[in-house]
Amino acid sequence: MSQAPKLNKNQKFSTNMASAHELMLLGKQGKKGNQSVARYALPAFNVTTYQGIDAAVDAFQTLGASGIVAFSNSALKHFGNGDAIKGLARASEHVKMLAKEGNVKIATHLDHGDYLSDSGKKVVDAAIECLTSVMADNSTDHKNETHTPLEVNIEATRAVVDKAHAKGVSVEGELGVLAGVEDEDTQSEVSTYTDPEELKDFLTKTGVLMLAPTIGTMHGPNKGKPGQKVKLNIELANECLKIADKINSDIIFVAHGASTLYPNVIEYAVNQLKDMGTLAEATKKWNNFVGTDWDQIEGLIKAGFCKINTDTENRQTYLAALLGAVKAGPATIDIRNFDKVTYKALYHSYLQKLIMAGNYGVWHEPKIDVKNFKFTLS
Ligand SMILES: [Zn+2]
Repeated sequence: MSQAPKLNKNQKFSTNMASAHELMLLGKQGKKGNQSVARYALPAFNVTTYQGIDAAVDAFQTLGASGIVAFSNSALKHFGNGDAIKGLARASEHVKMLAKEGNVKIATHLDHGDYLSDSGKKVVDAAIECLTSVMADNSTDHKNETHTPLEVNIEATRAVVDKAHAKGVSVEGELGVLAGVEDEDTQSEVSTYTDPEELKDFLTKTGVLMLAPTIGTMHGPNKGKPGQKVKLNIELANECLKIADKINSDIIFVAHGASTLYPNVIEYAVNQLKDMGTLAEATKKWNNFVGTDWDQIEGLIKAGFCKINTDTENRQTYLAALLGAVKAGPATIDIRNFDKVTYKALYHSYLQKLIMAGNYGVWHEPKIDVKNFKFTLS
């Protein structure tokens, strides 16, 4: 196999748009403006609505943070009213428009793109044209049926790198199989750790600058049994990072399934459900959500994981706030009221996560006091 093409860094994107890799590299190097600080990570927010995009971009602007707005295949279908390609065009234009109004850098990223099926290829090819970063997840067939052989994963991922890198679009590959339910298009009951032996081969041959290894994180709101902590394999993570660093120190690791619960949000939701009649089942579900403890994610960030994918806690915050608003005004037909409440919930959830990851003050000073930031749903 010939040498993989390098990421074209001369590519000009729309105003204030940048590849995810460019922004993550600043995080890995601890660069904020002219200052060198501790390493920080970029939470990638999986958005599913225009409101979600607005809240995320507003949070980036408030904090002067680098932004990653991520779209799953099913989110794109939602944006496009069933048509992912249409959804890509609409959602990416919306981000570009908002980015122009502000003064922070933002990346748009396709989450779990697949370059094995014909329908998946169409989405990835279109994403290379309108986003600034794509994930080429060819580690499984996305239907939980087969774990793709290494050579097939390498070949499909390399094909994406060949097209994307020429256009300045960064590519994230996946090695190993992550358990849990991401969305209707990406789920798996099995999990396979990344094999360090395969890693070297994968990174060298594909040329990806972003890698999602499997080290024990899980997709979805139930990352383990209630009451049991999620245990990440930090030793394996460090071993993989060492291998990657030797190949190219610009390679960034990505933590999928890195959602951490907000206990106050769970408590708030459970309180709303209390007087809503026969909602015992829903209350049980809320109480049984299991996230990854933040100290484990922090360990990953310190080690060199600079993109942490978060979705569940933002959805939970949205839903908890909506439950409260519906309960407070079940006959309110001025629906802007609900829109305001859910926007604020998402905005605060995003602010919280950006602050936790250390991603603020990158492009300008934060407009809020980050050290004392706390949000409540009320
Ligand atoms: Zn994922």
